[in-house]
Amino acid sequence: MITEAQILTALQNVHDPEIPTLSVVELGLIAEVQVRDNAAHVKMTPTFAGCPAVEVMRRAMEDELLSLGLGEARVTVTYDPPWNSNRITEEGRRKLKEFGFAPPAPYTGELNLIQIMDARCPFCNSHDTALESAFGPTLCRSIHYCNQCRQSFEQFKAL
Ligand SMILES: [Zn+2]
Repeated sequence: MITEAQILTALQNVHDPEIPTLSVVELGLIAEVQVRDNAAHVKMTPTFAGCPAVEVMRRAMEDELLSLGLGEARVTVTYDPPWNSNRITEEGRRKLKEFGFAPPAPYTGELNLIQIMDARCPFCNSHDTALESAFGPTLCRSIHYCNQCRQSFEQFKAL
């Protein structure tokens, strides 16, 4: 009998190609896990609608579940409720910082430019930073410059 905990452990091997240090579990993409008999159904909530990585991640997740020995593994996508950055786990936030990303501030329900500008440098923890671009390499990241240690860094937006 495969447990929900075993399923979540297996899903730790699947990563969002845009943020490869974080697993889909740490990003908070797993909305629901159902296991019955020898079949599992997992619901995932992608960070962005229409992201081309979604199908890749969905299949990788099914492969991981099948490798546990399940007879049937189904991963479906749900947008209700939508994902927001508050769902990133503590472990996920720690890894983001290690990777040179400022973790997102708490999401309050709307995209807040003041909050985006008020980024803390992940390298030296200084608040003396400047927003260089509200839209980094992907929609969910902004680019900043630290006046203290003179390094550029990216922040994962609260959204
Ligand atoms: Zn700095």
